[in-house]
Amino acid sequence: MIKTGVLNFDVKKIRDDFPILREKVYGKPLVYLDNGATTQKPKIVIEKLEEIYGKKNSSIHRGIHFLSEQMTEAYEEARDTVRKFINAESTTEIVFTHGTTSAINAVTFSFGEKYIRENDEILISEMEHHSNIVPWQMLCERKNATLKVIPFNDNGELDMDAYRKLLSEKTKIVSVTYASNSLGTLNPVKEIIRIAHERSVPVLIDGAQIVQHGEVDVKDINCDFFVFSGHKIFGPTGIGVLYGKEEVLEELPPYQGGGDMVDCVTFDKTTYNELPYKFEAGTTHYTGAIGLATALDYVGSVGIENIIAYEKELLDYTASKLRAIDGLTLYGNAENKICVFSFLMDNIHPYDAGMILDKLGIAVRTGTHCTQPVMDHYDISGTIRASMVFYNTFEEADMLVHGLERIKKMFEK
Ligand code: PLP
Repeated sequence: MIKTGVLNFDVKKIRDDFPILREKVYGKPLVYLDNGATTQKPKIVIEKLEEIYGKKNSSIHRGIHFLSEQMTEAYEEARDTVRKFINAESTTEIVFTHGTTSAINAVTFSFGEKYIRENDEILISEMEHHSNIVPWQMLCERKNATLKVIPFNDNGELDMDAYRKLLSEKTKIVSVTYASNSLGTLNPVKEIIRIAHERSVPVLIDGAQIVQHGEVDVKDINCDFFVFSGHKIFGPTGIGVLYGKEEVLEELPPYQGGGDMVDCVTFDKTTYNELPYKFEAGTTHYTGAIGLATALDYVGSVGIENIIAYEKELLDYTASKLRAIDGLTLYGNAENKICVFSFLMDNIHPYDAGMILDKLGIAVRTGTHCTQPVMDHYDISGTIRASMVFYNTFEEADMLVHGLERIKKMFEK
């Protein structure tokens, strides 16, 4: 165990904010290392949802009564909290969705409908989550367009020369992840966007795996779209965000019709609401949006600079411990990484290792992590993935390593 040198960061105190981290599984303390899939919720978020449903619930935007007005105000404040969190210019640029997946699908339908034509090209990367592959493939099928793929090297870093070559007159949009959920790679998104913009190609950034680990500034990176999920940043599930530059969203058609997204409806013609409401059809997940804002405020109170510094120490410590295990191969050794470890152990099926770790109270994920092309790159069927956030500890890293050593011994017999 090493002592963290990070100032202003008391991980024990932080863990007290997360009730589930006190739970036991099979009588053993829970070691939760599946944060890439979803993160746990601080008390303050759980209490906020209880408060809403217990005292304040009412449908937003349509009521003139006290509860509805109060809830509408809280919902719009949540939008402003999101705006500040990602440093967007205006709340008109913040659309609430059900998550990353639904935000990407929204862009593929809306942007795709307006701008994608036969023989156009859409550029993604080899390390994308299925959510940032399949909606684009479906769009290509609808429009007879072509999906092009930026490869990565064996360290898990994007091949930027290949990227430059793949961009062409035909490229209509680039869509890449900020951080890989299976390799941990932090991509040079600012550079990726700069290069695309030289050719006037817009860029969507999948932020599902960055918001909980690092600072996001959509103005600084200058992306056209940015998407993320609430449940991966200590907020409720079923809520997410689609950020789009105002001038970009303004030109796009709505992709779903229904209540709230309209201005005037007649059987002859319907006109649409202004931004961002034209993209929010039906009753939105307003409780989720408010819960998400509470989670973002919580992250702000921990301090993103503390999170980055602490996780860097945790990353270096855990990586060095894992590398010391004989017969363990780490996949994803990029220079810039988030605290995600994908690995295999010689002659041990990842599923077996995951099952045994589970019995030790250690929750990891096994399989392809919804990134089958990443597994194909290495010609493997899946990995064991331990994904950590700021409430994980050096002791938990030791427990993982100890568990893996035990498994190794079991399979040596
Ligand atoms: N993109 C990345 C990089 C992810 O890691 C995930 C989820 O693991 C998603 C997209 C999809 O997120 P959601 O299922 O919350 O829509």
